[in-house]
Amino acid sequence: MTSPIVTRFAPSPTGFLHIGGARTALFNWLYARGRGGKMLLRIEDTDRERSTEAAIDAILDGLKWLELDWDGDVIYQYSRAARHREIAEQLLASGMAYRCYATAEELTAMREKARAEGRTRLYDGMWRDRDTKEAAAGVKPTIRLRAPLTGETVIEDQVQGRVVWQNENLDDLVLLRGDGNPTYMLAVVVDDHDMGVTHVIRGDDHLINAARQKQIYDALGWSVPSMSHIPLIHGPDGSKLSKRHGALGVDAYRAMGYLPSALRNYLVRLGWSHGDQEIFSTEEMIKAFDLPAIGRSAARFDFAKLENL
Ligand code: GLU
Repeated sequence: MTSPIVTRFAPSPTGFLHIGGARTALFNWLYARGRGGKMLLRIEDTDRERSTEAAIDAILDGLKWLELDWDGDVIYQYSRAARHREIAEQLLASGMAYRCYATAEELTAMREKARAEGRTRLYDGMWRDRDTKEAAAGVKPTIRLRAPLTGETVIEDQVQGRVVWQNENLDDLVLLRGDGNPTYMLAVVVDDHDMGVTHVIRGDDHLINAARQKQIYDALGWSVPSMSHIPLIHGPDGSKLSKRHGALGVDAYRAMGYLPSALRNYLVRLGWSHGDQEIFSTEEMIKAFDLPAIGRSAARFDFAKLENL
């Protein structure tokens, strides 16, 4: 029996719902709805300093207005911090992670040295195999993954194809910070695993994170969900989308009087096409949407075309 499809939209609540985020939510929603699956909504509020209540409200409001519903309760990632710590401890116990007592000065020095030598592995492994009794008093250790030093990390991405990283270029990631809080990298892996997520669909700015997350999955002996990294949205001139290309927040389109169905229709075609068809009913969209049909080049956001809808 194949397992039911579970997707998730996992925004960090640090600002308004951006049209790029709305498109990611829409793709996750379409994929799940077209296959009898579920879409979860996980608010990634692990970064306590940057997460705000106002941003959470804006995201929930924007999704509701776009009529993108989710299954079950909203999940707040930070409420799961104890579980993330438990997994970090498990990795320590199995030897797949270690405590790092490097001071801020030592870390800065090793980063500078690595950069000067043109290495992308910035951490030099100073605490990988060292007796923690040697630690300087007062340093609160981080917990780092004992990442493989040789070989390759490979992701078979449904949109990007096969993506290969040389392990010698990937760092021993921090899993738990000195204050005991989990990092985004650990939290995402543990949550996706615990929540039975089968398909991760997100912006390709997270592609490098996929490699890092794969290393955590491997260390835990967990299977990696299907990955799809969708190209970011650019302006009609090909440059990174910015305010001069038009409004960036979903709320602005709502205020301008667009119908949610018009915005959904516009967003779905940013990077996804289905023959020559330009206007889709929601049912048609759900039926036709598929991941391999997403292009690998950046989608172009053209405000003029949206105005014609
Ligand atoms: N929270 C991340 C963001 O808002 C997304 C994480 C993910 O989809 O894995 O960019």
